[in-house]
Amino acid sequence: MQPESASYRGYHAYGYLEQGVDYADFKLADQIGRVPAYDGGLSAEQDERVGRILAENIAISLHEHAVVLPEDTGEIRAYNRTGRQRTAYEGLARSGLTAVFDNFMAGASCVTSENGWKWSDMIYALGFRLADLAKQDFLTHATTVADIRAAKRDGRVALVAGLESSTMIENELDRLDMLYGFGVRQMGIAYSQANQLGGGLAEPTNRMKPDEVIRACAERGGVIGLEAAPHTTLSDRHKSHSLESVMDHFVYCVDLVGIDHVTFGPDTMFGDHVGVHNTYAGNYGHKQDPAPEHPRVAYVDGLENPAENFTNIVGWLVRHDYSDDEIAKVIGGNTLRVLEHVW
Ligand SMILES: [Zn+2]
Repeated sequence: MQPESASYRGYHAYGYLEQGVDYADFKLADQIGRVPAYDGGLSAEQDERVGRILAENIAISLHEHAVVLPEDTGEIRAYNRTGRQRTAYEGLARSGLTAVFDNFMAGASCVTSENGWKWSDMIYALGFRLADLAKQDFLTHATTVADIRAAKRDGRVALVAGLESSTMIENELDRLDMLYGFGVRQMGIAYSQANQLGGGLAEPTNRMKPDEVIRACAERGGVIGLEAAPHTTLSDRHKSHSLESVMDHFVYCVDLVGIDHVTFGPDTMFGDHVGVHNTYAGNYGHKQDPAPEHPRVAYVDGLENPAENFTNIVGWLVRHDYSDDEIAKVIGGNTLRVLEHVW
Protein backbone atom coordinates (compact mmCIF):
# COMPACT_ATOMS: atom_id res chain seq x y z
CA MET A 1 0.00 0.00 0.00
CA GLN A 2 0.96 3.62 -0.46
CA PRO A 3 0.80 6.46 2.07
CA GLU A 4 -2.71 7.88 2.36
CA SER A 5 -3.52 10.39 -0.37
CA ALA A 6 -3.29 13.99 0.83
CA SER A 7 -6.60 14.66 -0.95
CA TYR A 8 -8.53 12.17 1.22
CA ARG A 9 -10.16 13.95 4.12
CA GLY A 10 -11.73 11.00 5.89
CA TYR A 11 -15.11 10.73 4.14
CA HIS A 12 -16.98 7.46 4.73
CA ALA A 13 -19.76 6.16 2.51
CA TYR A 14 -23.19 7.77 3.04
CA GLY A 15 -21.64 10.21 5.49
CA TYR A 16 -24.41 12.68 4.60
CA LEU A 17 -27.00 10.32 6.10
CA GLU A 18 -27.48 8.85 9.56
CA GLN A 19 -26.48 5.21 9.79
CA GLY A 20 -29.06 3.03 11.52
CA VAL A 21 -31.74 5.66 10.89
CA ASP A 22 -31.59 6.47 7.17
CA TYR A 23 -30.08 3.14 6.17
CA ALA A 24 -29.33 -0.23 7.75
CA ASP A 25 -26.26 -0.61 9.94
CA PHE A 26 -23.78 -3.44 9.34
CA LYS A 27 -20.43 -4.04 10.97
CA LEU A 28 -18.06 -3.77 8.03
CA ALA A 29 -14.77 -5.50 7.32
CA ASP A 30 -11.59 -3.50 7.88
CA GLN A 31 -10.43 -1.78 4.68
CA ILE A 32 -6.83 -1.77 5.88
CA GLY A 33 -5.17 -4.76 7.53
CA ARG A 34 -7.96 -7.36 7.20
CA VAL A 35 -5.31 -9.84 6.01
CA PRO A 36 -1.56 -9.75 6.72
CA ALA A 37 0.42 -7.36 4.51
CA TYR A 38 2.06 -9.04 1.53
CA ASP A 39 5.80 -9.40 1.73
CA GLY A 40 7.25 -9.02 -1.76
CA GLY A 41 10.82 -9.15 -0.45
CA LEU A 42 11.74 -5.69 -1.78
CA SER A 43 14.68 -3.64 -0.56
CA ALA A 44 14.06 -0.12 0.78
CA GLU A 45 15.42 1.22 -2.51
CA GLN A 46 13.01 -0.94 -4.53
CA ASP A 47 10.12 0.13 -2.30
CA GLU A 48 11.03 3.73 -2.98
CA ARG A 49 11.05 3.04 -6.73
CA VAL A 50 7.55 1.50 -6.49
CA GLY A 51 6.26 4.64 -4.78
CA ARG A 52 7.89 6.89 -7.34
CA ILE A 53 6.50 4.94 -10.30
CA LEU A 54 2.96 5.07 -8.89
CA ALA A 55 3.33 8.78 -8.13
CA GLU A 56 4.62 9.66 -11.59
CA ASN A 57 2.33 7.56 -13.76
CA ILE A 58 -1.37 7.08 -14.38
CA ALA A 59 -2.33 3.74 -12.81
CA ILE A 60 -5.66 2.22 -13.85
CA SER A 61 -7.21 -0.94 -12.50
CA LEU A 62 -9.40 -2.28 -15.26
CA HIS A 63 -11.61 -4.27 -12.90
CA GLU A 64 -12.39 -4.01 -9.19
CA HIS A 65 -15.36 -3.77 -6.85
CA ALA A 66 -14.24 -0.81 -4.76
CA VAL A 67 -16.63 -1.50 -1.91
CA VAL A 68 -16.41 -2.82 1.60
CA LEU A 69 -18.44 -5.85 2.69
CA PRO A 70 -19.80 -6.83 6.10
CA GLU A 71 -17.25 -8.45 8.39
CA ASP A 72 -19.66 -11.36 8.94
CA THR A 73 -20.08 -13.12 5.59
CA GLY A 74 -23.45 -14.40 6.81
CA GLU A 75 -24.70 -10.81 6.41
CA ILE A 76 -23.59 -10.30 2.79
CA ARG A 77 -26.96 -11.17 1.27
CA ALA A 78 -28.88 -8.89 3.63
CA TYR A 79 -26.35 -6.10 3.04
CA ASN A 80 -26.59 -6.38 -0.74
CA ARG A 81 -30.39 -6.49 -0.46
CA THR A 82 -30.29 -2.89 0.74
CA GLY A 83 -28.56 -1.85 -2.49
CA ARG A 84 -26.30 0.42 -0.46
CA GLN A 85 -22.89 -1.10 -0.87
CA ARG A 86 -20.33 1.17 0.78
CA THR A 87 -17.62 2.64 -1.45
CA ALA A 88 -14.23 2.00 0.15
CA TYR A 89 -12.83 5.53 0.22
CA GLU A 90 -10.30 4.82 2.96
CA GLY A 91 -8.83 1.84 1.10
CA LEU A 92 -8.71 3.63 -2.25
CA ALA A 93 -6.80 6.47 -0.60
CA ARG A 94 -3.95 3.98 0.00
CA SER A 95 -4.10 2.33 -3.46
CA GLY A 96 -1.77 4.51 -5.54
CA LEU A 97 -4.40 4.24 -8.29
CA THR A 98 -5.40 7.10 -10.57
CA ALA A 99 -8.52 5.33 -11.79
CA VAL A 100 -10.52 2.27 -10.93
CA PHE A 101 -13.05 0.53 -13.14
CA ASP A 102 -15.69 -0.36 -10.57
CA ASN A 103 -17.98 -3.22 -11.55
CA PHE A 104 -20.57 -2.62 -8.86
CA MET A 105 -22.45 -5.69 -7.56
CA ALA A 106 -21.92 -8.06 -10.51
CA GLY A 107 -23.31 -11.55 -9.80
CA ALA A 108 -24.32 -10.49 -6.30
CA SER A 109 -26.70 -7.80 -7.58
CA CYS A 110 -29.65 -9.22 -5.69
CA VAL A 111 -31.48 -6.10 -4.55
CA THR A 112 -34.97 -6.56 -5.97
CA SER A 113 -34.57 -10.22 -6.93
CA GLU A 114 -32.95 -13.39 -5.66
CA ASN A 115 -31.15 -14.12 -8.92
CA GLY A 116 -29.80 -10.68 -9.73
CA TRP A 117 -28.95 -8.83 -12.93
CA LYS A 118 -32.39 -7.27 -13.23
CA TRP A 119 -32.61 -3.75 -14.67
CA SER A 120 -33.96 -2.52 -11.33
CA ASP A 121 -31.06 -4.18 -9.45
CA MET A 122 -28.60 -2.20 -11.59
CA ILE A 123 -30.42 1.09 -11.06
CA TYR A 124 -30.39 0.61 -7.26
CA ALA A 125 -26.69 -0.24 -7.25
CA LEU A 126 -25.67 2.60 -9.56
CA GLY A 127 -28.01 5.18 -8.07
CA PHE A 128 -27.05 4.77 -4.41
CA ARG A 129 -23.32 4.69 -4.97
CA LEU A 130 -23.25 7.54 -7.49
CA ALA A 131 -25.39 9.67 -5.16
CA ASP A 132 -22.81 9.06 -2.43
CA LEU A 133 -19.97 9.90 -4.83
CA ALA A 134 -21.64 13.23 -5.53
CA LYS A 135 -21.47 14.11 -1.82
CA GLN A 136 -17.69 14.05 -1.45
CA ASP A 137 -14.59 15.39 -3.18
CA PHE A 138 -11.99 12.59 -3.15
CA LEU A 139 -13.38 10.18 -5.76
CA THR A 140 -14.53 11.59 -9.08
CA HIS A 141 -17.04 9.79 -11.29
CA ALA A 142 -15.05 9.67 -14.52
CA THR A 143 -16.72 9.43 -17.91
CA THR A 144 -13.89 10.70 -20.11
CA VAL A 145 -10.12 10.32 -20.47
CA ALA A 146 -9.87 13.99 -19.53
CA ASP A 147 -11.56 13.15 -16.19
CA ILE A 148 -8.88 10.51 -15.52
CA ARG A 149 -6.07 12.93 -16.39
CA ALA A 150 -7.67 15.60 -14.19
CA ALA A 151 -7.83 13.14 -11.27
CA LYS A 152 -4.09 12.53 -11.65
CA ARG A 153 -3.38 16.25 -11.77
CA ASP A 154 -5.51 16.92 -8.67
CA GLY A 155 -4.35 13.93 -6.62
CA ARG A 156 -7.81 12.36 -6.62
CA VAL A 157 -9.00 8.93 -7.72
CA ALA A 158 -11.29 8.51 -10.73
CA LEU A 159 -14.04 5.90 -10.53
CA VAL A 160 -15.31 4.51 -13.85
CA ALA A 161 -18.69 2.80 -13.65
CA GLY A 162 -18.81 -0.62 -15.27
CA LEU A 163 -21.14 -3.60 -15.33
CA GLU A 164 -19.90 -7.16 -15.87
CA SER A 165 -22.77 -8.33 -18.02
CA SER A 166 -25.32 -6.93 -20.44
CA THR A 167 -28.05 -9.22 -19.10
CA MET A 168 -30.14 -6.30 -17.83
CA ILE A 169 -30.65 -4.70 -21.23
CA GLU A 170 -32.77 -7.76 -22.22
CA ASN A 171 -34.11 -6.91 -25.68
CA GLU A 172 -34.17 -3.16 -24.98
CA LEU A 173 -31.17 -1.70 -26.80
CA ASP A 174 -32.15 1.79 -25.64
CA ARG A 175 -31.07 0.71 -22.16
CA LEU A 176 -27.46 0.92 -23.36
CA ASP A 177 -28.09 4.59 -24.05
CA MET A 178 -29.72 5.02 -20.65
CA LEU A 179 -26.79 3.38 -18.86
CA TYR A 180 -24.42 5.63 -20.80
CA GLY A 181 -26.51 8.54 -19.59
CA PHE A 182 -26.08 7.36 -16.01
CA GLY A 183 -22.31 7.38 -16.61
CA VAL A 184 -21.60 3.69 -17.28
CA ARG A 185 -18.55 3.40 -19.54
CA GLN A 186 -17.75 -0.32 -19.64
CA MET A 187 -19.85 -3.46 -19.93
CA GLY A 188 -19.15 -7.14 -20.17
CA ILE A 189 -21.03 -9.36 -22.56
CA ALA A 190 -22.13 -12.16 -20.24
CA TYR A 191 -21.48 -13.19 -16.63
CA SER A 192 -22.57 -16.68 -15.49
CA GLN A 193 -25.83 -17.39 -17.23
CA ALA A 194 -26.13 -16.86 -20.98
CA ASN A 195 -28.04 -13.85 -22.25
CA GLN A 196 -29.07 -12.64 -25.69
CA LEU A 197 -25.52 -11.61 -26.52
CA GLY A 198 -23.52 -14.63 -25.44
CA GLY A 199 -22.81 -17.61 -23.19
CA GLY A 200 -21.47 -17.19 -19.67
CA LEU A 201 -19.22 -18.94 -17.19
CA ALA A 202 -21.95 -21.36 -16.18
CA GLU A 203 -22.03 -22.78 -19.71
CA PRO A 204 -19.86 -25.79 -20.55
CA THR A 205 -16.85 -23.84 -21.78
CA ASN A 206 -13.26 -23.30 -20.73
CA ARG A 207 -13.13 -20.27 -18.55
CA MET A 208 -9.78 -18.76 -19.55
CA LYS A 209 -9.26 -16.88 -22.79
CA PRO A 210 -7.61 -19.05 -25.47
CA ASP A 211 -4.52 -17.74 -27.28
CA GLU A 212 -6.46 -16.95 -30.44
CA VAL A 213 -8.75 -14.57 -28.53
CA ILE A 214 -5.81 -12.84 -26.83
CA ARG A 215 -4.07 -12.48 -30.22
CA ALA A 216 -7.21 -11.14 -31.88
CA CYS A 217 -7.59 -8.58 -29.08
CA ALA A 218 -3.98 -7.43 -29.51
CA GLU A 219 -4.19 -7.33 -33.31
CA ARG A 220 -7.01 -4.81 -33.03
CA GLY A 221 -5.04 -2.66 -30.62
CA GLY A 222 -6.79 -3.91 -27.48
CA VAL A 223 -5.58 -4.71 -24.01
CA ILE A 224 -6.01 -7.82 -21.83
CA GLY A 225 -6.62 -7.14 -18.14
CA LEU A 226 -5.43 -9.90 -15.84
CA GLU A 227 -7.91 -11.16 -13.29
CA ALA A 228 -7.22 -12.32 -9.74
CA ALA A 229 -10.54 -13.30 -8.15
CA PRO A 230 -9.89 -16.29 -5.86
CA HIS A 231 -9.25 -19.59 -7.66
CA THR A 232 -9.33 -18.14 -11.19
CA THR A 233 -5.84 -17.29 -12.54
CA LEU A 234 -3.91 -20.22 -11.11
CA SER A 235 -0.83 -21.52 -12.86
CA ASP A 236 1.02 -24.82 -13.05
CA ARG A 237 4.00 -23.24 -11.31
CA HIS A 238 1.90 -21.63 -8.58
CA LYS A 239 -1.16 -23.77 -7.96
CA SER A 240 -1.96 -22.01 -4.70
CA HIS A 241 -3.50 -18.76 -5.91
CA SER A 242 -1.32 -15.72 -5.21
CA LEU A 243 0.30 -12.74 -6.92
CA GLU A 244 2.90 -15.18 -8.30
CA SER A 245 0.24 -17.26 -10.14
CA VAL A 246 -1.27 -14.12 -11.67
CA MET A 247 2.15 -12.87 -12.78
CA ASP A 248 2.72 -16.21 -14.54
CA HIS A 249 -0.30 -15.27 -16.68
CA PHE A 250 1.16 -11.79 -17.17
CA VAL A 251 4.45 -13.19 -18.47
CA TYR A 252 2.56 -15.63 -20.70
CA CYS A 253 0.45 -12.87 -22.26
CA VAL A 254 3.43 -10.55 -22.74
CA ASP A 255 5.31 -13.38 -24.50
CA LEU A 256 2.27 -14.04 -26.66
CA VAL A 257 1.24 -10.53 -27.76
CA GLY A 258 3.79 -8.05 -26.40
CA ILE A 259 3.86 -5.63 -23.51
CA ASP A 260 1.63 -3.05 -25.25
CA HIS A 261 -1.44 -5.24 -24.87
CA VAL A 262 -1.43 -6.36 -21.25
CA THR A 263 -2.66 -4.76 -18.03
CA PHE A 264 -4.34 -5.66 -14.76
CA GLY A 265 -7.91 -5.81 -13.48
CA PRO A 266 -7.59 -7.89 -10.32
CA ASP A 267 -11.34 -7.93 -9.57
CA THR A 268 -11.07 -7.53 -5.82
CA MET A 269 -12.98 -5.84 -3.00
CA PHE A 270 -12.62 -5.08 0.70
CA GLY A 271 -13.91 -8.10 2.58
CA ASP A 272 -13.97 -11.85 2.21
CA HIS A 273 -14.13 -12.56 -1.54
CA VAL A 274 -14.12 -16.32 -0.98
CA GLY A 275 -17.06 -15.76 1.38
CA VAL A 276 -18.89 -13.94 -1.44
CA HIS A 277 -18.30 -16.90 -3.75
CA ASN A 278 -19.66 -19.27 -1.11
CA THR A 279 -22.67 -17.03 -0.43
CA TYR A 280 -23.62 -16.72 -4.09
CA ALA A 281 -22.46 -20.14 -5.33
CA GLY A 282 -25.98 -20.97 -6.53
CA ASN A 283 -26.26 -17.68 -8.43
CA TYR A 284 -22.88 -18.02 -10.09
CA GLY A 285 -23.27 -21.68 -10.99
CA HIS A 286 -19.65 -21.94 -12.08
CA LYS A 287 -18.72 -25.33 -13.38
CA GLN A 288 -15.57 -26.40 -15.09
CA ASP A 289 -15.20 -29.91 -16.28
CA PRO A 290 -12.67 -31.31 -15.73
CA ALA A 291 -11.64 -28.86 -12.99
CA PRO A 292 -7.87 -28.78 -12.44
CA GLU A 293 -6.86 -29.83 -8.93
CA HIS A 294 -5.76 -26.89 -6.81
CA PRO A 295 -5.59 -25.95 -3.13
CA ARG A 296 -8.33 -23.69 -1.76
CA VAL A 297 -7.02 -20.41 -0.39
CA ALA A 298 -8.69 -18.10 2.13
CA TYR A 299 -7.53 -15.11 0.06
CA VAL A 300 -5.16 -14.32 -2.81
CA ASP A 301 -1.89 -13.35 -1.17
CA GLY A 302 -0.65 -10.10 -2.74
CA LEU A 303 -3.86 -9.31 -4.63
CA GLU A 304 -6.47 -9.35 -1.87
CA ASN A 305 -7.95 -5.87 -2.18
CA PRO A 306 -7.76 -2.70 -4.28
CA ALA A 307 -5.60 -0.92 -1.66
CA GLU A 308 -2.67 -3.31 -2.05
CA ASN A 309 -2.98 -4.61 -5.62
CA PHE A 310 -0.99 -2.08 -7.63
CA THR A 311 1.72 -1.60 -5.02
CA ASN A 312 2.36 -5.35 -5.12
CA ILE A 313 2.10 -5.63 -8.92
CA VAL A 314 4.59 -2.79 -9.40
CA GLY A 315 6.75 -4.34 -6.68
CA TRP A 316 6.85 -7.62 -8.58
CA LEU A 317 7.74 -5.82 -11.82
CA VAL A 318 10.48 -3.85 -10.08
CA ARG A 319 11.89 -7.02 -8.53
CA HIS A 320 11.92 -8.65 -11.98
CA ASP A 321 13.81 -5.74 -13.55
CA TYR A 322 11.15 -4.30 -15.83
CA SER A 323 11.98 -0.75 -16.94
CA ASP A 324 10.03 2.31 -15.81
CA ASP A 325 8.61 2.63 -19.35
CA GLU A 326 7.41 -0.98 -19.42
CA ILE A 327 5.82 -0.67 -15.98
CA ALA A 328 4.09 2.60 -16.95
CA LYS A 329 2.53 0.83 -19.93
CA VAL A 330 1.17 -2.19 -18.07
CA ILE A 331 -0.20 -0.28 -15.07
CA GLY A 332 -2.18 2.23 -17.10
CA GLY A 333 -0.56 3.50 -20.29
CA ASN A 334 -1.92 0.67 -22.41
CA THR A 335 -5.44 1.15 -21.04
CA LEU A 336 -5.26 4.89 -21.62
CA ARG A 337 -4.29 4.27 -25.25
CA VAL A 338 -7.34 2.05 -25.76
CA LEU A 339 -9.69 4.46 -23.93
CA GLU A 340 -8.51 7.35 -26.09
CA HIS A 341 -9.48 5.26 -29.09
CA VAL A 342 -12.80 3.76 -27.99
CA TRP A 343 -14.45 6.36 -25.70
ZN1 LIG B 1 -15.81 -8.57 -10.87
